[in-house]
Amino acid sequence: MINRRKVLQGLGVAIGAAAQPRSSHALAYAAAEPTAQQSASGQPLALVDFEPKSMLHVQETHIDRAKFPVIDVHTHITVSAKSEKGIDLGAERTYLAKPDELLRVMDAKNIRAMVNLTGGFDDGLVDTIREYDQSYPHRFYTFAEPTYSRFLEPNYPQIQADAVERAHRAGAKGLKILKTLGLYLRENLTSGKLVRVDDPRFDPMWDACGQFNMPVAIHVSDPIAFFTPTDRFNERYEELNNHPDWSFYGQDYPSNAELLEARNRVFARHPKTQFLVLHVGNFAEDLDNVSENLDRFPNMTVDLAARIGELGRQPRRARRFFDRHQDRILFGTDATPHGDETPQQLFNQKLYEIYYRFLETADEYFDYAPANVPPQGRWRIYGIELPDSVLRKVYHQNAARLLGITL
Ligand SMILES: [Zn+2]
Repeated sequence: MINRRKVLQGLGVAIGAAAQPRSSHALAYAAAEPTAQQSASGQPLALVDFEPKSMLHVQETHIDRAKFPVIDVHTHITVSAKSEKGIDLGAERTYLAKPDELLRVMDAKNIRAMVNLTGGFDDGLVDTIREYDQSYPHRFYTFAEPTYSRFLEPNYPQIQADAVERAHRAGAKGLKILKTLGLYLRENLTSGKLVRVDDPRFDPMWDACGQFNMPVAIHVSDPIAFFTPTDRFNERYEELNNHPDWSFYGQDYPSNAELLEARNRVFARHPKTQFLVLHVGNFAEDLDNVSENLDRFPNMTVDLAARIGELGRQPRRARRFFDRHQDRILFGTDATPHGDETPQQLFNQKLYEIYYRFLETADEYFDYAPANVPPQGRWRIYGIELPDSVLRKVYHQNAARLLGITL
């Protein structure tokens, strides 16, 4: 038998007199929960079973439709049909939803266009563009992805640059880099040393993206907590415990700082290439850092995808960030149809209502994802009430400019 009380205490949830509340939050837990000795059953409560309901009486604004038309620059409508250890091994795609299924939600939520970042390469990319972009013009846009499966061929740098040009001619709007680069791709694809983000073999690819006006949507690194031990001090303990493969702590993984530095060297080396740095520049926990990088690299923009949980728990800092960088922040969600495992990304009407509430209202202490327990960490968020002029930019103007499209 596991000593559940010990587990719970270890996770920092105050369950009785023995626990020392260290913050007002811990105090709130202590006050709400009877002590182990006093509780009716006398049984300690496992963290997984703890689903406290807020007793706050606060404003609840329901935003059914975005105030202005939206371009969601970060969605995943198609995925690779075959991959191993994070590397896509073939061109074939799996379609996660049909266009009309997506359009129903889009029309209800005032989403003018969706950008499918994971369009793949070669025939899979061409098929995806035909199925979505060409069948419903101005509603769907597709990004291409590198063909890492050809990485071992001696002339890969040129092969990849040529592939960017072909993708451009096929109608792809940009190139997507998953965290594959830096965290999965190895010298022998799935074994050997990790390939660095600024490896010169990718230089022709970055340059080709600049040449053909294909913005690079780049995901480097991950939440900072994923690089620390999955223990009682980890603020995303439950998420990492549910998805142990998301942890990049230990082994031969570079640190978050090393990954971001390598990424920044790429930005500096390719000033004519536009980089849309996903997930709030992949460092939403440190907006000073993201802000400095935005000032440093004019070829950098960011999206919000899957990070309103981070932005919304620091609403005053986030609001200053939006005010300062209002021309370089794009609306994105990371939405994926049928992704039940990650409610913060599940493509449905509820997801968009939460994003709109965060951006448009001054509501306090609400869930950042449609889930019983906040999936990315046990906290709630606050709206930042952006003015109309900034909302328009974030909802569609910045994206339209970057992608060269009209609504
Ligand atoms: Zn994504």
